[in-house]
Amino acid sequence: FSVCNRKGKTPRRPPPKKPSNNQKDPVGVYCRARPLGEEDEECCIEVISNTTIQLHAPDGLKANRNGEFKETQYSFKKVFGIKTTQMELFEDVAKPLVEDLIHCKNGLLFTYGVTGSGKTYTMTGSPGQGGLLPRSLDMIFNSISPYQAKRYVFKPDDKNGMEVQNQVDALLDRQKRESQTSVPKTPTTRRFDPEFADMISPEEACKASGVDEDSSYSVFVSYIEIYNNYIYDLLEETPFDPIKPKPPQSKILREDQNHNMYVAGCTEVEVKSTEEAFEVFWRGQKKRRIANTQLNRESSRSHSVFIIKLAQAPLDADGDNVLQDKSQVNVSQLCLVDLAGSERTSRTRAEGSRLREAGNINQSLMTLRTCIEVLRENQMCGTNKMVPYRDSKVTHLFKNYFDGEGKVRMVVCVNPKADDYEETLLVMRFAEMTQEVEVARPVDRPICGFAAGRRQRNQAFKEELTRRLEDRGGPVDGDSPTVLNQLLQSFPPLPPCEISGPNDNVTLPRLIEALEKRHKVRQMMVEEYNKTGKIITLFRTQDSNLLSKENFIQEQRGRLGEKDKMIQNQKNEIDRLEKKSKMLEYKIDILQKTTNIYEEDKRSLQQELESREQRLQREMSEKRRMESRMQGIVTDAKLKWEKECERRVNAKQLEMQNKLWVKDEKLKQLKAIVTEGKTENQQPKRPSREKDKVPGEVFKTRGGGQAVQFTDIETLKQENPLAASRKRRSSETGPDGEPMEGNWTDVETRCSVALEMRAGSNLGPGYQHHGYPKRRKP
Ligand code: ADP
Ligand code: MG
Repeated sequence: FSVCNRKGKTPRRPPPKKPSNNQKDPVGVYCRARPLGEEDEECCIEVISNTTIQLHAPDGLKANRNGEFKETQYSFKKVFGIKTTQMELFEDVAKPLVEDLIHCKNGLLFTYGVTGSGKTYTMTGSPGQGGLLPRSLDMIFNSISPYQAKRYVFKPDDKNGMEVQNQVDALLDRQKRESQTSVPKTPTTRRFDPEFADMISPEEACKASGVDEDSSYSVFVSYIEIYNNYIYDLLEETPFDPIKPKPPQSKILREDQNHNMYVAGCTEVEVKSTEEAFEVFWRGQKKRRIANTQLNRESSRSHSVFIIKLAQAPLDADGDNVLQDKSQVNVSQLCLVDLAGSERTSRTRAEGSRLREAGNINQSLMTLRTCIEVLRENQMCGTNKMVPYRDSKVTHLFKNYFDGEGKVRMVVCVNPKADDYEETLLVMRFAEMTQEVEVARPVDRPICGFAAGRRQRNQAFKEELTRRLEDRGGPVDGDSPTVLNQLLQSFPPLPPCEISGPNDNVTLPRLIEALEKRHKVRQMMVEEYNKTGKIITLFRTQDSNLLSKENFIQEQRGRLGEKDKMIQNQKNEIDRLEKKSKMLEYKIDILQKTTNIYEEDKRSLQQELESREQRLQREMSEKRRMESRMQGIVTDAKLKWEKECERRVNAKQLEMQNKLWVKDEKLKQLKAIVTEGKTENQQPKRPSREKDKVPGEVFKTRGGGQAVQFTDIETLKQENPLAASRKRRSSETGPDGEPMEGNWTDVETRCSVALEMRAGSNLGPGYQHHGYPKRRKP
C-alpha cells in the first residue's frame, strides 16, 4: 500500500521489508484554529506563538471545578491562527508531500478534530478557497502535465500493481472503453456549476521542482469512505435501479505481494488534468451525500480517504514511448484523509443503531489512538508490543505508513468556542503525543532509464527537421493529401449516356458537361500531382542529403571507433598504473604500519625507562631522608643522654656532698668528743674538705633507697687513745651482744664494707641502705 514498489524485481513473498535507511522523522503535527462562529462568544484558545497554542477553561467550567483547570499549552510543528489562508497552509503542510510523491515517495495526510472544527474545510475547502486536496491535485498536474503518458498506457492490475502497455494496445483499450461508457473527456476549460467553481486562483498555481522529464507519468485517483468500519468505493459505477436501489457493497482490505494494504477491487480512475480529477472527486462526494441521506447516516461519523497514485516510468531510448518494462514502473501514492469527528458519542445524542454505528466509528478513532500510543511506547521504551492495526479498517489501511516508510502529517483542527473545550483538550493531548511517533524516512529511488534529456533532444530534433523542410520547399503541411482526396471525391460520375431517341437533347449536353468537369478536375489533379512530385523530389533530395549525411556520420563513427580504441588503450595503461600505484600504496602502508609498531615500542620502552628512573630517584631521596632522620634521632638521643648523665652526675655530686657534709659533721662531733676527753693529747687536724673529694656514684636501689658506689678508697688512720671512750661506747653492741667497735669504728672498715656490697650486685629487696652500711654478718 505504501511502498513505492518496482514490480517484477520483488520476489513473490519477500520477508517483511525493512526500510533500507534507518533515518526516522516524527509524525508532523500541525494545528489550525478556525475563526469563532457568529453566535459563539466565548473563546477558549489563544495562539501564543507559531508553534504554541494555549487552552483555557471557560468560566463556567472553572467555577464548577473550583478553578482546578488552568491554562494548558500545547506545542506543534506549526500552529496556524485564524488568519491563515488555504494557500499558506498548503505551502507548509501538503506541498512537501506532493514533491515527495513526484519523487516516488509516499505520503499520508490526515485531518483530525471535533465536528465543526474545520477538517473538511482544511482538506477540501470551498469554492475560491480550495483546500489541501484540490491544491495537491493542481500542483501535481502543473508539474507533470507535459510529460503525461497517453491514457491506458499505464494500467492498474487488480493486485495493487501497475502494468505498462504499448500505445497501440492503449489506443484499442481506449476505443473499447469509450464505446462502452461515456468516459469524461478532458475538459478544456475550467467550467462547471458553482459547486465545481474554481478552487484555486491561477496566480496561486505552483509546481514541483526537479521533475524527471525523461519519465512518463500518469495519475490515478480512488475515493473511499469508511463508515461503521465498512469500506465503500465512492467511484464505483453501479447501474442505478430507481425501483429497488441496491445498498452499496462494502469492500475488503488485501495485502499485496509487497505486504502493502489496499482496497480490493477499488475503482482507480486515470485522470489527465486538475479539472478531470476534481470532477471525479465531486462525483464521489455526490455519491457519498446521496448514500448518507438515503441511509440516514451522519456524515461527520465517516472517514473519507482520497488516494492519489502517481505511476511513472522511464522513456525508451528514442524518448518517444514509455519503456515497456514493468519492473521499471514506479508507483507512489498520497493518501488524503478527512477523519470522522473525534468527539465522544454522548455529544451527538445518537440512539439505537446510529449509536452502535457511532460507537464503531469512535472505535476506529480509539484504535487509531491506541496504535499511536503503542507505537510511541515501543519506540520510546524499546518494547515490542503488538500494534493493533487490524482492530479497525482505518488503522489497517494506514499500517504500512507507520511500519514501513513514508511521510505522515496530521492537521489538528480546533474550534475556539468554549463549548468544545473538553473535547478540544482531548484532541490536543492526542495530537501532542502523536508527534512523538517516528516513521522511517522514505529512501530516494531515482528512476534508472537511459541517459537523461531524451525527451528534449527528441523534441529539438523534430523541430529542427520541420524548420529545414520549410526552408527548402515551402510548408510541407498535411494539406496535399486532403486536397487530392477532395478532388477525388468531387470527381463527377458519368451520367447515363444511352441516347433515348433523335429528339434527345438532354443526354449529350449532360455528358459533355460532365466530361468537361472531369477534364477540369483531371487538370487540377495533374497540377496537384506535379506539386506532389515536387515534394517527392524534394524528399529525394533530402534523402540523398540524408544519405551523404549518413555517410559522413559513418565516417565519423569509424573515427570515433579509432578514438575509442585509443581511449581504451590509454584506459588500460591507466589501469595498469593504477594497479601499480595501489601496490606501492599497499607497500607504503605496510611499511608505515611497521614503523608505527616500532615507534610504539620505542615510546613504550622510553616510558618504562623514565618511570624506572623516577622510581630510582624517589628511592634515593627516600634513603637520604631516612639517613638524615636517623642522624637527627641519634644526635637527639646522644644529647639527651649527655644531658641526662650530666644532670644525674650533678645530682649525685650534690647528694654526695650533702652526705659527706653530714659525715663530716659527725666526724667533727666525734672529734670534738675525742678532743674533749684528751685535751692535752692533741689530734692532728685533718682538713674536712678532704672528705668531699671522695668520689662515688649514687644508684637507686630496688627498695626505693639509694646506694653509693665508691670509686676510690682513702684510709683514715687513727689510734685509739682512750679506753674511757671505749667504755662509754660499750653500749653500742650488736644484737648478739658482741661489741661493734672492732668492726665499725674506723672509716676504712666501713668503706670497704660498702664497696663489697656494691660489688655483689645481687642486692636483695631486704637490703636497706640509709647512708650507713648495715652490719656485716659474721
Ligand atoms: P468539520 O469537517 O471538522 O466538521 P467543517 O470543515 O465542515 O468542519 O467546518 C465547519 C464550518 O466552519 C464550515 O462552515 C466551514 O466553512 C467553517 N470553517 C472551518 N474552518 C474555517 C476557517 N479556517 N476559516 C473559515 N471558515 C471555516
Ligand atoms: Mg467534515
